[in-house]
Amino acid sequence: MEILLHYDFLIEALSSKEKSVVIDFCKTGKCKGWVSSTTLPVLLRVLKKEDKVRLFDLLNRLSVITPTAIEIEQVFQDESFEEKLALNLVRSCRLDAIVSTEPEKFSGNDVSVLTVKQLESKVNESPSPINEVKLLDISASYHQILNDVEAEMADTTRSGQFILGSKVMEMEEKIAKYCQTKYAVGVSSGTDALLISLMALGIGEGDEVITSPYTFFATAGSIVRTGAKPVFVDINDVTFNMKAEHIERYITPKTRAIMPVHLYGQCADMEPIVAIAKKHSLNIIEDSAQSIGAEYKSKRAGSLGDMGCFSFFPAKNLGAFGDGGVVTTSSKEFYEKLKILRVHGSNPKYYHKMIGGNFRLDALQAGVVKAKLKFLEDWTEKRRKNASTYNQLFRQNALTQYIQLPPEVFPRHVYNQYIIRLENRRDELLSFLKGRNIGCEIYYPLPLHFQDCFQSLNYKKGDFPESERAADETLALPISHEITQAQQEYIVENIRYFFLKN
Ligand SMILES: *Cc1c(COP(=O)(O)O)cnc(C)c1O
Repeated sequence: MEILLHYDFLIEALSSKEKSVVIDFCKTGKCKGWVSSTTLPVLLRVLKKEDKVRLFDLLNRLSVITPTAIEIEQVFQDESFEEKLALNLVRSCRLDAIVSTEPEKFSGNDVSVLTVKQLESKVNESPSPINEVKLLDISASYHQILNDVEAEMADTTRSGQFILGSKVMEMEEKIAKYCQTKYAVGVSSGTDALLISLMALGIGEGDEVITSPYTFFATAGSIVRTGAKPVFVDINDVTFNMKAEHIERYITPKTRAIMPVHLYGQCADMEPIVAIAKKHSLNIIEDSAQSIGAEYKSKRAGSLGDMGCFSFFPAKNLGAFGDGGVVTTSSKEFYEKLKILRVHGSNPKYYHKMIGGNFRLDALQAGVVKAKLKFLEDWTEKRRKNASTYNQLFRQNALTQYIQLPPEVFPRHVYNQYIIRLENRRDELLSFLKGRNIGCEIYYPLPLHFQDCFQSLNYKKGDFPESERAADETLALPISHEITQAQQEYIVENIRYFFLKN
């Protein structure tokens, strides 16, 4: 349970000699405790010196949450100012309850206000049954990162430096370090990261780029936008990533680069791909949009080829509050080129030796990414834990005879998606789960060689049988760091019901 500790409760708990169960709950993690920043000055004024020490100790275990100035202004003339603020915070941050010594002060509203005794029995009673799991609930844990994110955003709004600038550079430095590369260049989206990387290699009309037909559209779309031709290679049926052993049969004198995709959060088998690229003097651009933090033989995604392309689309593992992306590289030459192409090829300003585009990242998004990066390892480990919980539950329930689980062939898999596979009845299961309020989705229903806009590439049914089969058989289940074990049990129970009783 997530609880807001009202100031009346805190004063009593901190100045009493007895131990408080609520504070114990917060210290042991049974509850997540929050305190409004507006109550801190009050506490500092009324607490005795030794009680202040207890407050400082307690604050290590609590999270401070802050109302906006407008929220304060709206209620500050109200007699029950503190209570009104507390109610607003609980609603906007979706906390479960307020703990107060005088719940009657809050009467007549929809928020649960509990005394210590009431909270105690609530924590010990069985939780209410689950009846919904969203595929992704992006704002569910916003309050956990709010202070870090809003500090970054305030920096930017006060500086007036909205496009590129120091905030973008700070983010780039941190991302380069995280991805184990020398440099990173913030750009306007993951799609633009792919496009600008191809442009940095001078790829265009008459060139060919080898990639996967089983990916998000942007992978091949960006190749076509440069004027080059995408040449598809089928996927491995276990990892859903490019089959390295098929690449060489597609290499022609026109081939310039290979663009492997690290789909769903797991790296493609890069060792043979790097060897082929070396042998034929080709460049490698990694589409790492779904795989920040993924590893292949202890090396991070984005450091395995010449350039790595990441997306900060909100649904990715590291999402901004809008569009954004980044290119990682350890080549000084590519780094310099990317920075020039990002601003229309201008260098020095207003002098153009090449044609780039507006691929600039804005400082607000860079600040959000920089703040969230601190949490990424925790979130990634939580996703990995969720994946192993699913695997365990599916095995315990003997469901692996109906569905194939997503194996981790190259650790570390970062599970942007948790994909199960069904030889038949995939669409039936999808609508069954949606009927039970369980979010799930098909990524992707139509392989790229079948897309109308690529008809001129002259591909036909059967050209990439594994990609075609994957499009008919895969299903993504909720895996975000916010979901609970109980929600996962609910999902697996429903899948069990689908197969055994239906
Ligand atoms: C999301 C994604 C992209 C594009 O990123 P945007 O930021 O949405 O432009 C490219 N490739 C893959 C594999 C993706 O998942």
